[in-house]
Amino acid sequence: GSIGSSLVLPLIDQSGKAIGVLNLSRPTDSKVFSRAELRQAELVAGQIAMAVSNARLVSNLTNSLEDARKTKDTLQAIFKSLPGSILIFSANGDLNEAASRVEAECEAFIHSGHAISGALTECQEEAKSSGSPAEQHFHDRDTDQFWHIQAVPLSGGGAVVTLNETTARERDARDTARMRRLAEIGQMTAQIAHEIRNPLTGIRSAAQMIRQHPDVLPEFIGTIEQEAIRLNSLCDEFLAFARPATIAPEECSLGKVIGEVLKIHAPIFNENGLTLESEVEDDGSIWIDPQKVGQVAHNLIRNAMEASNPGDTVKVAVGLDWFRVEDSGDGMDEETVANLFSPFFTTKSNGNGLGLCASRKIIEAHGGEIFVNSSPNSGTTFMVRLPSDRQLSDGDE
Ligand code: ADP
Ligand code: MG
Repeated sequence: GSIGSSLVLPLIDQSGKAIGVLNLSRPTDSKVFSRAELRQAELVAGQIAMAVSNARLVSNLTNSLEDARKTKDTLQAIFKSLPGSILIFSANGDLNEAASRVEAECEAFIHSGHAISGALTECQEEAKSSGSPAEQHFHDRDTDQFWHIQAVPLSGGGAVVTLNETTARERDARDTARMRRLAEIGQMTAQIAHEIRNPLTGIRSAAQMIRQHPDVLPEFIGTIEQEAIRLNSLCDEFLAFARPATIAPEECSLGKVIGEVLKIHAPIFNENGLTLESEVEDDGSIWIDPQKVGQVAHNLIRNAMEASNPGDTVKVAVGLDWFRVEDSGDGMDEETVANLFSPFFTTKSNGNGLGLCASRKIIEAHGGEIFVNSSPNSGTTFMVRLPSDRQLSDGDE
């Protein structure tokens, strides 16, 4: 039949939130709900609310547990599928877990004093103290193995460290570098053949002329001599480039050595409408090969001259163990700067591209360094530093 009386009670959980409604009703032919029954119903509603919210909590907990289990499975699957090794360290640096294909190996690394364990510890410490990821490359010289180590700090104070062997990649890179060098040598050989062929052609045609017209001998003998000299100096340059630079150091002043080079160049600068300025800040003595260092200064000053335009000034500054050649010429783009010291790299129609390559060899043989600073249109500065540790003070020895 139809409803005679009814009770509608909200189900309120502990936090005071309504989680449902309890609806009780009686048909028209039954008793109307009494006040006592209302109180009873309120008690029941309270218990239902509690039971429902407890059931919800339990179900949430079960879901959370299930989620955690799934996350753990996923993480483990990720660990297993990773090619490297993953090590988890606690805040005090203990190894908590090593999850990886080479688990046993990892444990062994850490505990056996394997060369890599120092690098692992260092990387881990760095990540923990900086609070941000750290990485290191490690080369085991005994086995010629390469490793990449990455450490990520954990909020709890520990760190996760991954260890990847990169030996194959490093060897590939090494092979590629070797192939590139071989290709470079091939290119160089072609260049050398080309440079030798020009004077040889000159000599051959001179010889042919002489055979056909013996009377031109006096005229062509000069050509033959000139071309032979050219070949000879080409050989010198190639040899200087092919050999490791040997130096014969003596006690001398860089200021005097470069002064000689400047003296030779002053008239040539004049002829070309250029100014050559020099400033010697110190002319104490150091141990250098004066011929070879003079050759470097010569190469740098020549290049500065060739890059300059009429009216420009080239400035040469000399200190005890350094010198600098600064021009305000054409400058260089990035690509030129990158190739500057490569043998046979030249942007000149009459250049051979060996000057800077040889210069760097000479400076490095002294244990010094050569730097360049250049950009298009703003000129170029070359800086040479030589070691002064064998420097002699006046009157010594
Ligand atoms: P080369 O002078 O025979 O070309 P170098 O080895 O002396 O060979 O120089 C290589 C190249 O470097 C030059 O062709 C030129 O492009 C660039 N270069 C060197 N010095 C300068 C400079 N002072 N200003 C601009 N370019 C320069
Ligand atoms: Mg040059």
